Amino acid sequence: MSQSDFLPPERPGTAPYWDATRSRRLLLQRCRACGQLIHHPREACPHCLAQDFVWEESTGRGSVHAVSVHHRPFEVMTPQDCPYVVAFVDLDDGVRFLSDIVGPDRETAAVGDRVRLVWKPVAGGCHLPLFELDR
Ligand SMILES: [Zn+2]
Repeated sequence: MSQSDFLPPERPGTAPYWDATRSRRLLLQRCRACGQLIHHPREACPHCLAQDFVWEESTGRGSVHAVSVHHRPFEVMTPQDCPYVVAFVDLDDGVRFLSDIVGPDRETAAVGDRVRLVWKPVAGGCHLPLFELDR
């Protein structure tokens, strides 16, 4: 299965998140009880366990907190998928986001680099949020 065959999981509380990706919008949950911004989407706030959220659109911009570059394909990947770059991105909105860095210079990604959101189409009309370097 390649990423383009990826079907977003149907988990409680995640439908608004995946629906927004159809129009390439990245939504984050904000807890109405404690005010914390949350990612990944979930049923209950990890800070106070409240289940009352509003959805806010992310700027899609941030910086690399940590990065790992893989030169050998694993499991479902092909050699063309490499180098495969996984990163924790600190969104300017205030949450940490685990994703891939894509683009021709992705293997040069380093901690502190600025990144911007890009989208990869997947099954069901949804999109996966990925990042590219913004130098
Ligand atoms: Zn909360």
